[in-house]
Amino acid sequence: MSSQDHYVIIGNGPAGNHAAAVLRKKDKEARVSIISDECIPYYYKPKLTGFITGSVPREDLLVLSLESYARENIRVRLGQKVERVDVDSKTLHFSHMEKIQYTKLVIASGSDSRMLPSMEPYEWALKFVTSYTDVMEYKDQIKNAQEIFIFGGDFVGFKFLRMLDAMGKKVSILIYPHAFWPYNLSDEMLDQVVANLSKTRVQVIVKDDIKDIKGSPGAYRIKTCNGIEKKADLIFSFNGMTPNIDFIKGSGIDYDHGILVDEYLKTTVDDVYACGSCAQIYNPAIKAYTVTIGWPNAVNQGEVAALNLLGDHKVITSVGRKYFDLEGVKIKTTWWKNIEDE
Ligand SMILES: Cc1cc2nc3c(=O)[nH]c(=O)nc-3n(C[C@H](O)[C@H](O)[C@H](O)COP(=O)(O)OP(=O)(O)OC[C@H]3O[C@@H](n4cnc5c(N)ncnc54)[C@H](O)[C@@H]3O)c2cc1C
Repeated sequence: MSSQDHYVIIGNGPAGNHAAAVLRKKDKEARVSIISDECIPYYYKPKLTGFITGSVPREDLLVLSLESYARENIRVRLGQKVERVDVDSKTLHFSHMEKIQYTKLVIASGSDSRMLPSMEPYEWALKFVTSYTDVMEYKDQIKNAQEIFIFGGDFVGFKFLRMLDAMGKKVSILIYPHAFWPYNLSDEMLDQVVANLSKTRVQVIVKDDIKDIKGSPGAYRIKTCNGIEKKADLIFSFNGMTPNIDFIKGSGIDYDHGILVDEYLKTTVDDVYACGSCAQIYNPAIKAYTVTIGWPNAVNQGEVAALNLLGDHKVITSVGRKYFDLEGVKIKTTWWKNIEDE
């Protein structure tokens, strides 16, 4: 290893930060930079619901302060979006026209809300909760709203639903079984979820779809295919996540849903690794690529990607709980852990 090395990490979530920490620990001389298009240091996404209600102050949302990056001699570039990767010249192009060079790159760009094709006509009305930036945009609107409509579900969606119920909001949810992508709820599971929610004030709609949305914030009117009509101040969509990989398209790095990596988290391009929820990882046991989500997996993958980038040869495995409790239904998943319950 030489002091000339510049390890660059795209992404300031658990995968990116744990990769950076390992790189810094193992190579004291190299330059280490983390890039994020958000304007906040490493923060705890599972606490965002508590941040909305006010039970978690901003300082408790942060995992790391800016000072701690400085202490570790890690450069953090906040509010800077990578627009393109040139793997031949090892250059990253930012949306603000700056370019930087890397010797080795870790992509840990996470994932964003998945937009169902059937909901595209209503995109103008939908809100998503995937980041601090989203939450800052809607926090006050949520506080002031009386009636909120949720379309979809997914694990984050149900945490959000419980939060709204606890805040005393009038909530309706149209549960969409495919919202749990890459996992689908069976009819039996859906029935159990509905039975459990019947003990709350939440109004549950199933086996239905959106027919029409009209209105504006504070006064939406929603019609379903089965003729149900609802009013809502805000409409949220929770339909799973899709990897954030637009900026690698055309670079020569192979991708499918996510960035394709082997079991060592190496992409199809030398000196480029990917980890966390942006990666689609080859599993030799099933001879297929799978996307993983969840905080513990992102942490583990960030560390393994960094070690392998430095010359190690560690095969990635799935970590986290085997089951997730969704409204009383035990869902088998190795990629999610309910961190707030711990
Ligand atoms: C409200 C909420 C609650 C959750 N609760 C839980 C929970 O209880 N348990 C659990 O296991 N998981 C939970 N999760 C999921 C968990 O937060 C994610 O699985 C985890 O954050 C994924 O980590 P990551 O490092 O792969 O990506 P992320 O944490 O998404 O980080 C990606 C980073 O990349 C940056 N980025 C993306 N594109 C670019 C670009 N072009 N240029 C520059 N920067 C870019 C983003 O700004 C971000 O900093 C929750 C998520 C949310 C939103």
